[in-house]
Amino acid sequence: MIVILKKNAEPQQVRLFTDWLRSMGLETHLSVGENHTIVGLVGDTSRVDMESILALDIVEMVQRIQEPYKNANRKFHEEDTIITLPNGAKIGGGHFLVMAGPCSVENEEQIISVARSAKAAGANALRGGAFKPRTSPYAFQGLHEEGIRLLLRAREETGLPVVTEIMDAKHLPLFADIDVIQVGARNMQNFELLKELGKLRKPVLIKRGMANTLQELLMSAEYVMAGGNEQVILCERGIRTFETATRNTMDLSVIPVLHQLSHLPVVVDPSHATGRWELVAPMALGATACGADGLLIEVHNDPEHALCDGPQSLRPEKFAALMEKIRAIQPYADRSFSAAPAAAE
Ligand code: PEP
Ligand code: MN
Repeated sequence: MIVILKKNAEPQQVRLFTDWLRSMGLETHLSVGENHTIVGLVGDTSRVDMESILALDIVEMVQRIQEPYKNANRKFHEEDTIITLPNGAKIGGGHFLVMAGPCSVENEEQIISVARSAKAAGANALRGGAFKPRTSPYAFQGLHEEGIRLLLRAREETGLPVVTEIMDAKHLPLFADIDVIQVGARNMQNFELLKELGKLRKPVLIKRGMANTLQELLMSAEYVMAGGNEQVILCERGIRTFETATRNTMDLSVIPVLHQLSHLPVVVDPSHATGRWELVAPMALGATACGADGLLIEVHNDPEHALCDGPQSLRPEKFAALMEKIRAIQPYADRSFSAAPAAAE
């Protein structure tokens, strides 16, 4: 971080300022010019509040030269983070993980049938919503506690670890046996929720908000990691743009960019990104080729009658065909920005 001081800053004020910075464990380098004095801060500046520095009388300008996130930053953690789920499946560092399942858990027969076909096709985790963040309060909101119970039944039946979304920290006790907790796009910046998830020691999958930058996504990951929970998975699910042909706009370049910036695994959700089942396979394959560490795909046994997101859900046969193609191209994925190259390189 660089701080430019005003021309008329008194030496006494400058000394007080640099003493204050040093008391925060930072080294300071002073460069006194004819018109300006520049203070360079060396050390971990992620905890330094830029605005409180800018508010000081003697400060003209503050410029960050290092990212405001530390735990999620690849500069401080070169190796890819690898997360292992209870069934031994791994994600990150060249390990690819596919999470599949219906948008929402609807009943026992449905979730067990989808879980079985997802597993047979090669998925490593079952994803289904029990708490659904719907735009309309009149739309199906999920089965809540019963939905969680049914997910755990499906896990018992198939051995697949379960991934499901939390919307409120007060529901945390219900998530005690859930293997991966998802934070949805709408809650990406629910900082109190993120802090609570930081107290856990289990994987948290954070979806990028529909109008959030990658830096904001990484700051949300930082919230969880700052609490000591290092098992964070980042998820790109498309952002909102002026385009209406697809539900959201999916930017595949975020995969290598996130790998460059962070050591955390990156997954892509082509279902919510496009909103159309016919686009799920091409986007899933594209994401795989671009070096994603995994995918989150909506699969439903009867999309026409799905209570949520039927139009973007793949039938089990289509999902199985897609999985074959994913397996075929995964070894050739471009992972130039990850620490661990793909198997075929
Ligand atoms: C979901 O994963 O079911 C969901 C609601 O997704 P998003 O938060 O990305 O909209
Ligand atoms: Mn959905």
